[in-house]
Amino acid sequence: MKVDIIVPCYNEEQVLPLFFSACEEVIRKIPSYEFRYLFIDDGSKDTTPLILKNYAKQHPYVYYISFSRNFGKEAAMYAGLTHATGDYALILDADLQHPPTLIPEMLKAMEEGYDCCTAIRNRAGDPKLRTWFSQRFYRLMNRISDVKLKDGAGDFRLMNRKMIDAVLSLEEVSRFSKGIFSYVGFRNKEISYENVERAAGTTKWSFFKLFRYALDGITSFSTFPLKCAAFLGSFFSLFAFVYLIVLVIKTLVTGIDVPGYASTIALILLLGGLILLCLGIVGEYLAKIYKEVKRRPVYLIGESHLPNENDVI
Ligand code: UDP
Ligand code: MG
Repeated sequence: MKVDIIVPCYNEEQVLPLFFSACEEVIRKIPSYEFRYLFIDDGSKDTTPLILKNYAKQHPYVYYISFSRNFGKEAAMYAGLTHATGDYALILDADLQHPPTLIPEMLKAMEEGYDCCTAIRNRAGDPKLRTWFSQRFYRLMNRISDVKLKDGAGDFRLMNRKMIDAVLSLEEVSRFSKGIFSYVGFRNKEISYENVERAAGTTKWSFFKLFRYALDGITSFSTFPLKCAAFLGSFFSLFAFVYLIVLVIKTLVTGIDVPGYASTIALILLLGGLILLCLGIVGEYLAKIYKEVKRRPVYLIGESHLPNENDVI
């Protein structure tokens, strides 16, 4: 059985040697599987591509793809899965936050007949505020969309061919893998592990980026915000209609009454704000459709060394 280890790397020169030796140590103890590395250099600006090239030169089971620029981790994972040809694919972060020591346990799950094994981390050591926002996101997402996401279940997964093909059959350009993995279903085994700090280097996710990612997730897998906009619109229309009747009756009975400047301004501001908010929600979905219909490639390869290719390294 062949296992492709897909490793997205973006400016990971500091941690790559640590990662490679830690991973090697684990997989050399599992001779019953044939492991291959498929590193995805996501347009790194440091020496990451050189390191990968060297690994490929030294080891016949190391392959890499270098993107023409930074396309993001989602694109890197998609490229990895697209080019993986093995029976299994494992997605691992380069920073050792996904401990390779879990690989034997994950393989065992596959032998038990599961299609996917997901490693779930706890949030020990994460910043409090980030944890709070993440938990709110997962709660909201699970309430408003069809896919069920589990807090701590990231991209650290081992999948069989059936699952890989299913994931690739979802051809959307803006990809939210957590949602896609859950959407495709199949038999999934969850194992948990203790959160670990990055071995070296720095995280590429700022708070703002994470927030954007969460919004992307919601608009990718739920149309609930659109329904909210429609609900708000209906609610205010009904309110306005009832109020109109009240006003007409009041005018007929007691005559015309002019005061109410402050309340009029307040209402105009409130409604103006709500209209813009709803437009913004519609805009988010429109932007998503715009991106999808253009059908731009998810990633572009600058250079690669892949199995069954005559590329010169
Ligand atoms: N990564 C990537 N492209 C990016 C950002 C990150 O390929 O644009 C990779 C990164 O090299 C690492 C993994 O995705 O292997 C997870 O990134 P990071 O550790 O920065 O995220 P965190 O663990 O803090 O969520
Ligand atoms: Mg990390």
